[in-house]
Amino acid sequence: MNDKTSQAPVQKAKGVFIDNQWRPAKSGRVIDVYAPAEGAVFAQIAAGGAEDIDAAVQAARRAHEGAWGRLTAVDRGRLLSKLGQLILDHVDELTLIEARDTSKPLRQAHADILACARYFEFFGGAADKFHGETIPFMNGYFVATEREPHGVTGHIIPWNYPAQMFGRTLAPALATGNATVLKPAEDACLTPLRIAELAAEAGLPEGALNIVPGIGSEAGAALISHPGVDFLSFTGSPEVGVMVQTEAAKNHITCTLELGGKSPQIVFDDVDLDAALPSLVNAIVQNAGQTCSAGSRLLVEKKAYDRVVEAVIARFSTLKAGTPEMDLDLGALINPRQKKRVESFCARAADDGIPLLAQGSVADGAPQAGYFVAPKLYGPVPRANTLARDEVFGPVLSVIPFDDEADAIATANGTDFGLIAGVWTQDAKRATRVARKVRAGQVYVNAYGAGGGIELPFGGVRKSGHGREKGFAALHDFTTMKTIIVKHD
Ligand code: NAD
Repeated sequence: MNDKTSQAPVQKAKGVFIDNQWRPAKSGRVIDVYAPAEGAVFAQIAAGGAEDIDAAVQAARRAHEGAWGRLTAVDRGRLLSKLGQLILDHVDELTLIEARDTSKPLRQAHADILACARYFEFFGGAADKFHGETIPFMNGYFVATEREPHGVTGHIIPWNYPAQMFGRTLAPALATGNATVLKPAEDACLTPLRIAELAAEAGLPEGALNIVPGIGSEAGAALISHPGVDFLSFTGSPEVGVMVQTEAAKNHITCTLELGGKSPQIVFDDVDLDAALPSLVNAIVQNAGQTCSAGSRLLVEKKAYDRVVEAVIARFSTLKAGTPEMDLDLGALINPRQKKRVESFCARAADDGIPLLAQGSVADGAPQAGYFVAPKLYGPVPRANTLARDEVFGPVLSVIPFDDEADAIATANGTDFGLIAGVWTQDAKRATRVARKVRAGQVYVNAYGAGGGIELPFGGVRKSGHGREKGFAALHDFTTMKTIIVKHD
């Protein structure tokens, strides 16, 4: 990353991306972008607002009714697959952008770019394989269902996985023929802005993919309330999720919400601990815990408590945070606000007398101005405590003991969230029973996949949101069904 040192000049804002072209935001304002590992400004993005959103929605509408809308599914798929290939061709460049913008370790940023490419490959390939059905009806009738795009879809993504979120929300929307307007997160969106250029290079017609960077209360608020938007896809905080759903209701449209979680990893006495340990720890450390599906609660059967916790303590104590180039276990948190939020959870834990079992460290040489926090392991955490119930969104793992299978299920289901879960046992019948009773959109058995699996339907219940992204399920959510009834006799 020697071309991206903190001495390098600040990268100028490109503008808003509408009709395959950069144009200045109408406000003329820009937003400073900080490198979290450096605590310093290294780039600027345009501060898009309501007028830019309106222009983007109009461009998308023209595309939907024009060149983009006329393409066959095969041709849409080809364009998306081509974009996937272009992302792969630029993997080194994009990895550096993503790493600096978010402070992820380089190898994780690299994996994220590959995942982004994979979204376009998967949904590019799926575009012409998703179709309706015929329905046997009365004599003299032919009935068929058809999956139609919503039209213009609005997308809001967070800062934790800019590249992956870009692929996750846009690839299925485009594959099904929607024209899209994306408002990425102001804290980290340089990779999406670069990939937009690659999309134009791949040959996406003007207006199919528009991006308006800006702050949530301006560009975001304008997008979710715009009457020209036919569907909304949102990933972020539960608080903003409520606003998205409220605005969607006012315009009589639907939305998918992906809002985070407090996901449990349930460890029974018969766990294969050597196999489980890397996943138990990585599930909370990956992306510095800033992952909606982070495994932030470690539920351990009392019989195995000492053995499991001792092994986790040993591993936790070795964890190190550092810059992307150091490529350690985790990077910095995204901004000072997020760092303060995590530290306030830790201060509250101390006030509540919750034992700090272990903590990692920040590497020597990591910039003092970076937003680093050492990962922390707490336990036993009382079930009613905020550390057992609320999303920290940082590298903080809460250990909670349980008595038996029934208690494990009750504890796992004891928060307002329900996104994913892990079950660790060698008893296949028990694993299946627990997997079926845990309230979550995805349950892993003897594995844990925070963030992975483009093919696997993903989403939550209750405070984790609703709707499914990833896999063929996403194609359902990004379309509406029409039933055509023909009387032919
Ligand atoms: P946020 O919900 O405020 O931001 C997410 C996205 O929503 C961003 O693009 C933002 O600009 C946009 N947004 C903000 N206000 C908006 C509004 N009024 N109208 C429309 N869009 C708006 O999340 P945050 O402040 O960046 O993070 C706060 C907390 O949210 C975190 O601590 C974490 O708990 C949670 N979070 C969850 C995820 C996830 O993947 N589920 C991602 C990021 C944050």
